[in-house]
Amino acid sequence: MDSRHQRIVFLGPPACGKGTQVSMLAARSGLPTVVTGEMLRRSAAAGTPTGLAAKEYMDRGDLVPDSVLNRLVSETLEDPAYAGGFILDGYPRTVDQAKFLTGYLQERQTPLTDVVAIEVPHDMLVRRQAGRLICKSCGRVYNRHYLPPPSEGRCACGGELYQRADDSEEVIRTRLEVYRTNTAPLLAYFRRQGVLREVDGSGVPQRVQESILAVLDRGGGPA
Ligand code: AMP
Repeated sequence: MDSRHQRIVFLGPPACGKGTQVSMLAARSGLPTVVTGEMLRRSAAAGTPTGLAAKEYMDRGDLVPDSVLNRLVSETLEDPAYAGGFILDGYPRTVDQAKFLTGYLQERQTPLTDVVAIEVPHDMLVRRQAGRLICKSCGRVYNRHYLPPPSEGRCACGGELYQRADDSEEVIRTRLEVYRTNTAPLLAYFRRQGVLREVDGSGVPQRVQESILAVLDRGGGPA
């Protein structure tokens, strides 16, 4: 895959494996990533005004207001580190965000090249999400059901594993509903722009990555 000047968005419901796939693709391609959920969690932990305001929405499983995200992402993309291409994970998540991003990139004559949509059946999403464990030290993601850690509560790096506050069952239901209502309409939006690449995310991570590389290589066209 020639990753020069690829500007890629990843879309998919919570726990579809998006984070894992983005990390794998970033490692292979060298493209820098912008992971909005992680940025917001870091700001909240640091106690910044934006972070603290965002935390209330995040803890409920609701979306943080568009204006906050639009500013966060556009300010981030001003950094020359992203001039040669990037991968966006977690943004855009509403049609308004998508329109803002499209306009922002159009002004710079650097439109999105690909929007990868990962699809996973609903019941698998709930099981994946409820079993998710994350390493406090290195950020690696495990799953009680699908990808258990080498020892109870510990990562391979020795770090302590934790469950995200918004991975409780009630919040999971809210987040899936929020995705269905706000984010799923983006599929049609990007399909119309001719950049949507749909990928089956129900297989093992390596298999899903191969499907992603295949759709990126052929620009979404037929094999
Ligand atoms: P994630 O780690 O991508 O699942 O994001 C965790 C939480 O951060 C979401 O449930 C939202 O509350 C918030 N968040 C992340 N990205 C966005 C976005 N683009 N728009 C609104 N809220 C967001």
